[in-house]
Amino acid sequence: MKLKQRLRIRVVGIVQGVGFRPFVARLAEDLGLSGFVRNTTSAVVIEVESSPDLLASFLKRLETELPASATIEHLNVETIDPVDDQQFQILTSGTGESHSAGLPPDLAICRDCCREMDSPEDRRYRYPFLNCTACGPRYSIVEGLPYDRPLTTMRDFALCPDCRAEYEDHKNRRYHAQPIACPVCGPKLWFERADFIGDSDAIELALTALSEGQIGAIRGIGGFHLACDARNTKAVAVLRARKARGDQPFALMVRDIETAREFVQIDEQAAALLGSTAAPIVLLQKSGDSKVGNDLAPSNGYIGVMLPYSPLHRLLMKSLDALVMTSGNLHGEPIVTGNEEAVEKLSLQADFFLHHNRGIAAACDDSVVRLYRGRALAIRRGRGYAPISLSLPVDCISTLAVGADLKSAFCLGRGGKAYPSPHIGDMENLATLESFERSLHHLSRLYQFQPEQVVYDAHPGYLSTQWALRFADEHHLPALAIQHHRAHAASVMAEYGLTPDQKVVAVVFDGTGFGDDGAIWGGEFFSGDLTRLQRTMHLPYVELPGGDASARRPALAAIAHLHAAGLDWTATKPACALTALEAKLLPRQLGIGLNCHRSSSMGRLFDAAASILDIRHSVAFEAQAAIEMEALAARSNDKASYAVSRWNLAELWAEMLTDTHATTEAKAQRFHQTISLWTSRTAQELALAEGTDTIVLSGGVFQNLLLLECVSSTLEQAGFRVLVPRYLPPNDGGLALGQLYLGALADPR
Ligand code: ZN
Ligand code: ZN
Ligand code: FE
Repeated sequence: MKLKQRLRIRVVGIVQGVGFRPFVARLAEDLGLSGFVRNTTSAVVIEVESSPDLLASFLKRLETELPASATIEHLNVETIDPVDDQQFQILTSGTGESHSAGLPPDLAICRDCCREMDSPEDRRYRYPFLNCTACGPRYSIVEGLPYDRPLTTMRDFALCPDCRAEYEDHKNRRYHAQPIACPVCGPKLWFERADFIGDSDAIELALTALSEGQIGAIRGIGGFHLACDARNTKAVAVLRARKARGDQPFALMVRDIETAREFVQIDEQAAALLGSTAAPIVLLQKSGDSKVGNDLAPSNGYIGVMLPYSPLHRLLMKSLDALVMTSGNLHGEPIVTGNEEAVEKLSLQADFFLHHNRGIAAACDDSVVRLYRGRALAIRRGRGYAPISLSLPVDCISTLAVGADLKSAFCLGRGGKAYPSPHIGDMENLATLESFERSLHHLSRLYQFQPEQVVYDAHPGYLSTQWALRFADEHHLPALAIQHHRAHAASVMAEYGLTPDQKVVAVVFDGTGFGDDGAIWGGEFFSGDLTRLQRTMHLPYVELPGGDASARRPALAAIAHLHAAGLDWTATKPACALTALEAKLLPRQLGIGLNCHRSSSMGRLFDAAASILDIRHSVAFEAQAAIEMEALAARSNDKASYAVSRWNLAELWAEMLTDTHATTEAKAQRFHQTISLWTSRTAQELALAEGTDTIVLSGGVFQNLLLLECVSSTLEQAGFRVLVPRYLPPNDGGLALGQLYLGALADPR
């Protein structure tokens, strides 16, 4: 007698929009199982019927042969009564369940699609919008869930008979590929210049313009880029001037890994990250030839590099092998997504436009990452990584956490899930605030989210704080302020699923955050569990002149530090870098503490060191001085640290000022070693006192890989478990998740 069994399998994870259902259907057919697979809004449901051993091998192959872009977070199997159906079917999406399905991020073009677009005999030869179930736009085109074409910006493109046949054939690799398109029925490109608009040979026109040194505004996946030939120094200089960009580094798109090697050092891990489905911008050390890329990233040891991740970008790399690709935006504003908006806002920066008519439902910047221990450490989380859902260790009511002002990103939470938004921008103008609201509206619609509580940063002056209070007031919601650095710590604890009663020591180093005592914090140690995170140590307070002024002027931070240390600073490098006005006012200002703020900021400590070492006295963007100092330090193998008492800054500065034999590189390395040593020793002692072996590292200063690696490895060698951000950035872009977690614990119910 042949025994038949039927299983119902619920799969949660990134299983929609990644070719998961066709994969299931092929597998079932292969094994001769009957049943069905169906998308629901919260999971994929599979029912399969056959003999127990075939069902067992189905379950095994389901996990082992999973498509690369799919991820199974959770799989629930139950045995149900057989229904004796005859075939396997893919059923249309069901609706009505709560919206929490894993919506996939935008996926870089796959190999099969590359091959097709390169084959002259293929009907999609050189088609800029081809895609399949394994690749193409997702998040950026989705307007609602479940993920089906009518709920994407592809809805207006009616399928031609050929595309329809592929879409409906479950043996085809475009079976149910929602953004499926071809030159007959899909989106189109056109070229626009002041005197001319044309849709034939748009790519050729763009390439000609680029090779003549012109600057193009090019519509991509999550918004517009401004692009120019990276090998044309004149074009790069023009772009820099038009973007009013100062020394800020430009990201590069290069044709392939070989080309990338001309600009940056690439090992196997870096190559794998560049070629991953997320295809992020990876910040890598400049290649040995130090002249290369000096105009792209002046006095910076690193260049951000990415590979062409869409078919359109591949076409652009046919005749040019390296393009500067920088976000298309007005200074300080979010990335531009619409064609008309682009012409309106970018006409002074771009010589031409390359438009297309596939709508962008949600703005999404390129992600920026560093390579840390073989994986991506997010600096900016956008295209390819957003959206994600994370499991929270506790249940929460529907909570909106608004994040902070710099590197703004919010986070939605409900039940045991958190949904962090992609990077939005620096909250310093109306345009960013509007983009924040659009992004909030978009994610709220996708997840059918209605906040019942709002949490925000305790800084009373943040725009995000004011927005949160007004929003809570308008919607009659409870609102809760969360201290900045505790949120940084809680963010990492949430990522690792640490429960609220788990004891930790958290080391949070950043530039600025509003402290409990009204001082500017940023060099903080906390001990305890999440319900009571006590500040057990901090960097000694120093009076810093004018909050923002010393963030832009490392020289001011340096002199404030030297002054606080009681050292004579008049003949130092930072003193030479002062403007006449600063030189006149500063002694008096520091003397009486006029417009000075008490600060324990680790970010400013690094700035001060960079200025004292004559590396940089003024910055054009956040953390510029620290980034340059890290790159210099990384070139030295001098792993000694300064032999001074722990956290005695006066002794440290005195040593650095008198250490005249060593090179700047060696001194920068010694400074890193000293701070790392102090940090790990203090963290260890606090952990022993608290009775925990878990140490959390968070805050923007830990984007410094030299510091991160030194502190982590020292602590790990001493037997501690070190937790560093995995999915979200250590900087304020990851803050909202921590606000959310702390907000969930303070549940007003
Ligand atoms: Zn593909
Ligand atoms: Zn078609
Ligand atoms: Fe911060």
